[in-house]
Amino acid sequence: MTRALCLTCRKAKLTCYCQDLEKFTSNPQFIILLHPKESRKAINTGRMAFLQLNNALLLTGSSFDEHELFQQLIRDPQKRCFLLFPGPEALDISDCKHNPPKAGQQDVFIILDATWAMAKKMYRLSRCLQELPQLMFRPQQPSQFVIRQQPHLDCFSTIETIHHIIEVMGTHPAGEHHRLMKVFRDMVQKQINFELRHSPESSLPHDRADRFALHND
Ligand SMILES: [Zn+2]
Repeated sequence: MTRALCLTCRKAKLTCYCQDLEKFTSNPQFIILLHPKESRKAINTGRMAFLQLNNALLLTGSSFDEHELFQQLIRDPQKRCFLLFPGPEALDISDCKHNPPKAGQQDVFIILDATWAMAKKMYRLSRCLQELPQLMFRPQQPSQFVIRQQPHLDCFSTIETIHHIIEVMGTHPAGEHHRLMKVFRDMVQKQINFELRHSPESSLPHDRADRFALHND
């Protein structure tokens, strides 16, 4: 049986979340660099964030030195670009908050949407990424992405990372960014329900089933 896919979110029609999206324009602006392997996964939270942000960009690739649009963006004098990537020189996001960009400049945060192993490879293969100032953060609580198989950067999914950055930067006092987490949580729940329904003998690992119970509280 082939499942009809939504062409926007690339999810099966049953788990499509497009009707739940409420777009907003974020500050900082986000550029999501999606590893091709990540784009083939059943759930891609980078795409989910991209679909909710009017001004985000989603670029697919494993190396970006030859990527014309990306090169233009990082050279644009009206943008102050940072790469979210841990390292000895990396600033904490809160440092960035206390050091605002020059007048007329827009902060742009670049996020690698990939597992940690793939992200390190993207970084190694792209000199342009190595030349960007780096930012990092320490999550205060564990990821809610209970169905992910492999660890992401800081074990946070891309959408949780974006939500956390906006929260720390304090740039959306009206709280538009919380919509990101609402759609994310609903999607995780839908996907777990879907998987449980389609695995009658519960082939899901125990911890997933346990966490599912927690989510129903
Ligand atoms: Zn959809």
